Amino acid sequence: MRYSHALINTVRETPSEAEVISHRLMLRAGMIHKVAAGIYAYLPLALRSITKISAIVREEMVAAGAQELLMPAVQPAELWQQSGRWDKYGRELLRMHDRHDREFCLGPTHEEVITDIVRAQIRSWRQLPVNLFQIQAKFRDEIRPRFGLMRGREFIMKDGYSFDRDDAGAAATYERMHAAYTRIFERCGLRFRPVEADSGAIGGAFSHEFMVLADSGEDAILSCDTCDYAANQEKATARAPEATPPAANAPAPEAVATPDKKAVDEVAAFLHREPTDFIKTLLYRAGEQTVAALVRGDREVNEIKLAHALGADNLALASDGEVEAATGAPCGFAGPVGLAGDVAVWVDREVAAMATAVTGANHADTHLAGVQPGRDFATDNVADLINADDGDPCPRCAGTLHLSRGIEVGHIFKLGTKYSAAMGATFLNAEGAETPAVMGCYGIGIGRTMAASIEQNHDDNGIVWPVPIAPFTVEIILIRETDAASLEVAAAMERELTAAGHEPLVDDRKERPGVKFNDGDLLGLPYCVTVGPRGLKEGKVEIKARATGERVEVAVEQAVGWLTERCA
Ligand code: ATP
Ligand code: MG
Repeated sequence: MRYSHALINTVRETPSEAEVISHRLMLRAGMIHKVAAGIYAYLPLALRSITKISAIVREEMVAAGAQELLMPAVQPAELWQQSGRWDKYGRELLRMHDRHDREFCLGPTHEEVITDIVRAQIRSWRQLPVNLFQIQAKFRDEIRPRFGLMRGREFIMKDGYSFDRDDAGAAATYERMHAAYTRIFERCGLRFRPVEADSGAIGGAFSHEFMVLADSGEDAILSCDTCDYAANQEKATARAPEATPPAANAPAPEAVATPDKKAVDEVAAFLHREPTDFIKTLLYRAGEQTVAALVRGDREVNEIKLAHALGADNLALASDGEVEAATGAPCGFAGPVGLAGDVAVWVDREVAAMATAVTGANHADTHLAGVQPGRDFATDNVADLINADDGDPCPRCAGTLHLSRGIEVGHIFKLGTKYSAAMGATFLNAEGAETPAVMGCYGIGIGRTMAASIEQNHDDNGIVWPVPIAPFTVEIILIRETDAASLEVAAAMERELTAAGHEPLVDDRKERPGVKFNDGDLLGLPYCVTVGPRGLKEGKVEIKARATGERVEVAVEQAVGWLTERCA
């Protein structure tokens, strides 16, 4: 490819709308064009990388026994009504009407369509297991599209779905997908970690996210410094605390005045205590029920865990009015002692293990000190309700959990029979009984993977592509594009490199060498060959490795061999 004919418009200034480095560099390297918020055109450079990532994904999925198909992006509402998600999915689902006023949506994911296909195609246990995937544009009307391709509204996803005869088969398929994902992200040259993720109602460790480690990541991960335990903070559980035995014959709780002091930190400073001495009481609404969640003063309620503990679909913080109605006090003074009987009290494990604590008194400007869990309020409902945090003990070993950030590039999930049962994707088992297939689903964000790679691989001058997903593998820079001998060498090298399976980009533009070198660093192709009259006089070209900055002079006739060895 000749740069002079390529659609590559580099930009020197840093685009102001881009908050993360991958977005900035993709805009500066002329890889993407914004069409609307969260909706991008992939320009040729970006598409070349995306095609390579897709090829790696395809190869590994097929090697793991999956088959590729392609489903429509537009999906009829009926399928979503059958699964029960038409009403549940919320506003990320872009809904529309056709000319006959029938309802459709633009697919954010394809469980409904694949289940419709399989229920029509599969009759007998002999046809199972089957594992199907596609690579396709998805649409999710994200509330806050941002970071370029990282969180778009339209984005390319590999989505796969497996159907097994039973749980054991589904677990084996899940393990194969876990291994395939590991190979995919290794081959893409990423530093990543599979972490346990929240698996909703199914529970257990049947959901993993593949996290690319990067400070700009939107997800928090807790990983053990000793064993291989790692989990999304949404799911991570620290080792349960040991109970501190309360003092015998301790006096009853004592009311203390805390005028206008509401937040734990304020009250703690006022009473000369630590936030860890407090119990924080948060009131929620779960359907018709009011729930009080009790966590230690320095902790955050993990609403996903709370919802699981309650078995609730919908959970929302209570409004100020609801808090006042439930506690009889203004907001900021709620506590578990003497709460109205119709409020369900859920106690975090750590709170249940406290010997004594300070809590709100359900009375304006008042707290209670010397409150004993179990004595002064019931601890019938105890669960892990908090976000595990940096420094907490590992649940599996004596190690310590550490907090870091990651970008979720892939997600594997055991679905069970949720969709197959709801939509009637059943088969006749060996005994002739109608049985719902056991499903799994497996996603990879292709564009997000490319963006995540740039987050991990860049320097002050631009992108540093790993060879397997680089848009081109080699750039050939002509110092003097009018020099006949240079042109001849570059053309021969381009031919030979192409024949040897490389993808060269020849910078033959009428630009100063400095501009070409800067653009070369910005585009970040793994190797850059400089061809100029001075080197050619000695029969040499210079090759620079983008990742290390290492430069070597190589005889013209050895350059292709040198590159082939390194790009293998
Ligand atoms: P997130 O929590 O980041 O919104 P998700 O849990 O909604 O992700 P899945 O439904 O599991 O994502 O989708 C599978 C994969 O698709 C994700 O692992 C991610 O790589 C990618 N993906 C999801 N949403 C987006 C998006 N808005 N833009 C780009 N890629 C996305
Ligand atoms: Mg999402």
